[in-house]
Amino acid sequence: MNHLACLLKDVSFRKEFQFHPRCKCLRFQHLTFADDLLLFAKADLPSLSLFKADLIEFAHVLGLQLNLDTSQIFFRNVSGEAKRTITRLLGIHEGRFPVRYLGIPLLASRLSHMDCKVLVDKLMGRTTSWLSNSLSFGGRLQLLASVLFSIQVFWCSTFVLPVAVTKECDRILKSFLWHGVGNSKKGGKVVWSKVCSPKEEGGLGIKDARSWNRPAIMKIGWDICQRKGSVWTNWCYDILLKIKHFWAAPITGACSWSWRNILRTREVMIHKVLYEVKDDNLFSLWYDPWFMGASIVDKFGTTVIQDSRIPRDAKVNSVISESKWNWPKNSWDLIQISYFTVDLPLQTCSDMIHWMKKGSTFSLHEAWRAFIPYSPIVSWSKVVWFSRRIPKHSFCLWLTFRDGHKTLDKLHSWGVVQSISCAFRCGQEESIDHLFFACPFTATIWNHFLAKCGFRMSYEGWFVESDWCIQSLQGNSFRSWITKLTLATVMYHCWMEHNNRFFQNSFRNRY
Ligand SMILES: [Zn+2]
Repeated sequence: MNHLACLLKDVSFRKEFQFHPRCKCLRFQHLTFADDLLLFAKADLPSLSLFKADLIEFAHVLGLQLNLDTSQIFFRNVSGEAKRTITRLLGIHEGRFPVRYLGIPLLASRLSHMDCKVLVDKLMGRTTSWLSNSLSFGGRLQLLASVLFSIQVFWCSTFVLPVAVTKECDRILKSFLWHGVGNSKKGGKVVWSKVCSPKEEGGLGIKDARSWNRPAIMKIGWDICQRKGSVWTNWCYDILLKIKHFWAAPITGACSWSWRNILRTREVMIHKVLYEVKDDNLFSLWYDPWFMGASIVDKFGTTVIQDSRIPRDAKVNSVISESKWNWPKNSWDLIQISYFTVDLPLQTCSDMIHWMKKGSTFSLHEAWRAFIPYSPIVSWSKVVWFSRRIPKHSFCLWLTFRDGHKTLDKLHSWGVVQSISCAFRCGQEESIDHLFFACPFTATIWNHFLAKCGFRMSYEGWFVESDWCIQSLQGNSFRSWITKLTLATVMYHCWMEHNNRFFQNSFRNRY
């Protein structure tokens, strides 16, 4: 491919060749990804013929045959007559947008619900291809977090998805988690917004499509603001921003839908980025938010630029001389700015942009946290989520802490059952507090294993027992780990026995 890249680069120096109007600044004429090749040029025959000649030469060198049947040519703002002439002479048929590349549609307009149908179908297809009925909740959670979520990530990192699509994706994920299929209309055991909160706040750490989509797009904004040296960011600066600065670029009707959404992420980003000025020329003096978390223009307006007589495109180093701030003092605003910057230390190294705090770079997880509401930290998360746990047991324990089990007292209150007499036939009323572990049946099992972990006997209900677990099982010692493992295991098997007795009339004794 290097040989082909050299051939194509040489083409751009030929006088007959004309660049695509939006690729001229970067002198950009081709893009390769895996075994795909995209070529860009003005829609005139001489330029396109040069491309074809290069491809024929490349094929000849490798001893291959050029197959133009698998290629397509796409036009924009070209007359029908010109299109017909070009396609006939080149022998390449015309393609029409939108086309799919790596499964996603290539289009510049707003993404429609129909464009995303392939994403929804793919999620649904995956959920139906697994034998989910035989999977535990822990197994489904693993599949959801790894496979289904990664399908979404690919799309979320590329497009702003329509709200209806993100809702549909969430509905499929929710249905799969609780019912093992993607199309169930039944509800779940725990509210979905709680499920989608971080584990330390009592959730399962699942990232719903809507709240993940926005930080994924923000990542593009971060790359632009960092001036990451990719083709995409260079293209944004040369074509979309031109002489405007990222932070000052207006959102107008001329902006494409995707570009508008990238610019909109600045509202949240401005509160998360931290500009550290050093004696360099990276930051814009007037438009970058290096001054007390905002840009000087945002704080003082554009008149300060005129007052200073410093150009609009000046960098911060234009007011630094001999490693000291040296502001003109032509107006009261400039005197104020000079006063506030006097304490800003300057060092002789590159300007830096940090994410949230010094030394940190952009993290999708941190950005995601910025978009979802904070909930109080729960004291029990470390009792449920610990290393070397058994996923299905921990899931059952999580449901207990979240009061998600459908015990008989709940089913009775919903009118599903007539009696709330404990399924273990102890004669008492069944509730979560009773089952874990005030019920003589489950208490005997729990105490048997608790004693093996070196702890005291207990016949308390879950409200007291959970407090004891939170207080006693926070550490990382072996005893703490084995007791947490035991708690989750005993709870899981007691709950399974409860369900077997209730639904299948199948009984096992406690030993
Ligand atoms: Zn009981």
